Formats: sequence, structure tokens, C-alpha cells
Amino acid sequence: MGEELFECPRCSTLHRLSDYRSDVVYIYCSRCKEKILRAQVKAVNLCQPTLPIFISDESGDIAAYKTVEHAELHLEAIDVENGEYVGYDAEGRVLTLCTFGEVVRIWLFEKSEQRTTELAQKLCAYLKAVNDPRGDTPSLDLSSLVSYWKKFR
Ligand SMILES: [Zn+2]
Repeated sequence: MGEELFECPRCSTLHRLSDYRSDVVYIYCSRCKEKILRAQVKAVNLCQPTLPIFISDESGDIAAYKTVEHAELHLEAIDVENGEYVGYDAEGRVLTLCTFGEVVRIWLFEKSEQRTTELAQKLCAYLKAVNDPRGDTPSLDLSSLVSYWKKFR
């Protein structure tokens, strides 16, 4: 399941391990051209986000996407590069947003931080902003918010 990625030690760009040959001594970062000893490359594991995923921006707006691919197509690469978004899966695990030129990629790493309360607070704040009475229910936990969101959207 999932693809294996590695981080360039010089520019921190993430690359797909499958894009590189495994039978060579050195590989080169496609962004900064760093020469990397193939044997020293440590892959990080990805896992499947629980859907929907949520993308929040600095203005407090928050959007739900049914699939990762939908979000990847909707987000502007320039905004991702400027760090304007924070992404979560439905369990509040923080997603990693990357760009390859104009292409946006969204990943969930196995060791990703879980910020359940932060996401619940953002969802509540959004509901409040659109005058939805649910935004004022203090006991609403993340899973009820997420299932409400599925109907709401
Ligand atoms: Zn690099």
C-alpha cells in the first residue's frame, strides 16, 4: 500500500523512490541536483488518509474534499508554496502538502502529528461564521463534526 518517498538531504524536497533506479550507486535530486548515495536513502512510509480530508486557509475558511485527488486539483501550487494551507484527514492527522512545479501532492505520513482538537475547533469556528447553530454546541467532538460535515456539504 502507498508509495515510498525520501527527502533530499540538501533541499528537503520529497521524491518518489520508484522514480529512481535501485541498481545504481548514486542518484541525483531532480530539484537541486544533490548527489545522494543510493544505499543511504531512507524511505518514509505513507498511509491512507481517512476521508474526507479538510484544507483550512489563513482566513479561517475550511473546505472538505471527498478524495485526496480532488484537493490536489483544487489547490493552487503557489498558495501551497506560500504555506497558506493546513490540511487534515478526518481523524485530525496533519497532511503534508508539496508541489512539483504546478502539480500539488498531498500525503499522509505514518508518523504524522494528530491534532484532533485543532481541527474540531476550526470546524466549529467555521460553522459559527456561517451562522450554523452547531457551531455553538460545545460538546461536539471531531467524529460528529465530520459526519455532520458530510451532510452539510
Ligand atoms: Zn535536493
